[in-house]
Amino acid sequence: MNEQLSENSRVAMFDFMHDHADMESRQNRLSNNSETEAYIENCITCGKPRSEAKTFTIGAMFSGEHLIKGPFPLIICDDCEGKIAASISDETRKFWDDYIAEHFPGPPSEIDLPNKSKPILI
Ligand SMILES: [Zn+2]
Repeated sequence: MNEQLSENSRVAMFDFMHDHADMESRQNRLSNNSETEAYIENCITCGKPRSEAKTFTIGAMFSGEHLIKGPFPLIICDDCEGKIAASISDETRKFWDDYIAEHFPGPPSEIDLPNKSKPILI
């Protein structure tokens, strides 16, 4: 998927994460063996508690049934999703929308959700 993202979108997302997420202090604090909840209790980029977010995106890596801890798992809150979504190109959005439609049956990504946000896949 990463290869399909436009260069501009890749740079925009990298810049957003680089500018807003302190991965080094997070890694020092949590390492790779903390309780799962500790990784996902706050938005990775603004620190908002998950309980205060209307919606959030969660990212995680697995090997089989084993959750791999480190930079992941993480969450990004609704506000930060919106900021990232605003910075990605139409080309990238179309690629993601097509990918989600093909691989994740459910409401279409164009659907109006109650909170008026558009779902994105990170
Ligand atoms: Zn946030």
